[in-house]
Amino acid sequence: MTERWRSVAAAAGLAADDGSTRPTIFAEMTALALATDSANLGQGFPDADGPEWIRRIAAEAILQGENQYPPGRGIPALRESIAQHRLRHTGIAVDPSTEVLVTAGATEALAAALLAFTGPGDEVVTLEPFYDAYAALIAMSGATHVTVPLRHMDGAFRVDRAALADAVGDRTRVIVINTPHNPTGTVLSADELGLIADVAQRVDALVLTDEVYEHLTFDGARHHALAALPGMADRTITISSSGKTFSLTGWKIGWAVGPAPLIEAITAVKQFLTYSGGAPFQPAIARALAAGDDDILELRDSLADRRDLLVSGLRAAGFDLVVPGGTYFVCADATPFLSDAAPDGAAFARMLPGAIGVACVPISAFCRAGSETASALSSWVRFTFVKDERTLRTAIDRLSRLGGAAEPASEQHG
Ligand SMILES: *Cc1c(COP(=O)(O)O)cnc(C)c1O
Repeated sequence: MTERWRSVAAAAGLAADDGSTRPTIFAEMTALALATDSANLGQGFPDADGPEWIRRIAAEAILQGENQYPPGRGIPALRESIAQHRLRHTGIAVDPSTEVLVTAGATEALAAALLAFTGPGDEVVTLEPFYDAYAALIAMSGATHVTVPLRHMDGAFRVDRAALADAVGDRTRVIVINTPHNPTGTVLSADELGLIADVAQRVDALVLTDEVYEHLTFDGARHHALAALPGMADRTITISSSGKTFSLTGWKIGWAVGPAPLIEAITAVKQFLTYSGGAPFQPAIARALAAGDDDILELRDSLADRRDLLVSGLRAAGFDLVVPGGTYFVCADATPFLSDAAPDGAAFARMLPGAIGVACVPISAFCRAGSETASALSSWVRFTFVKDERTLRTAIDRLSRLGGAAEPASEQHG
């Protein structure tokens, strides 16, 4: 392929130099899991679909003729329902006609916002490790990605305050935060959010807050909405999605909520990304947000039980770990199992399916190559517990065979 057709994606590091798609670590691990008949605790999607009553509304909507382009901002009933839900759960009142935008998942909201507000010469600050889409979307916008480590200390991952103050400066246009946090399961404290609010106001930056796990917190850990902090309502775009909350990740109904002028700017970009989508799913999610609080509680409780099961299994197998306060994920340190054949978390994750029939993903996949955080967490891996109990028990049973340095991939498992 000639230099002339070297794609923008390749230039931004999203594709290989020949322009071909670079498979993400998630795709690679899922393929390995399939090939080895592994318990797949790598990719974080539920293996049980969301509530049937919600799915029936979508099925009915298809039969009743909700099959053409919905309004670009989303159907009024859904925008109204998002506003009501937000008021009920956070006390924040928003105008559904100007301050709410329905998007193709949280991902499109993030993409449209980053494209709307940032470009070459701007800096976008995220925590590290980070949800992998952030780095790709920041690269597409042409902005520079700056990261603030979440440090492993006292059995938790916490924001490095000094690094936050250093990272945010005159070039910072946008700070992207994510709480509850994927991959670490950290629920940012009111204190940490206060620090983020302070630095954002100091440099007049916008904050995109990715709260797709807002309802999935455990042990009474409380999710705090950044937009509720003093001075933040005017500069915060809150992004969420029905995918994780209702175990309907394939529907891709998400939203952005924030001040009208900012939502207007995001809408301007969004209209030329997908314009609109998910016509039959929108009325179903409108009902789910209005009447699905019990389903959310049920999912939260069942996830808490599954988290406990996986945490105790990983501990029994010999992993050091951080007990997550929210999300679908637990991060564990694979140091006791590293060897010459598998010297770090990435090699361990690649070896594990073949060796014992369990898949996970390395934390380095959520870090910038060569960063300080990538090296601090180089031995760490992420397991998901959003799987049925049988899969989790199978995984735990297999992990209990690890005992010290794991066997090379070729030697066992049939
Ligand atoms: C799953 C996930 C998303 C993507 O949400 P969609 O609604 O599927 O686009 C965004 N952010 C985080 C942190 C996620 O884990």
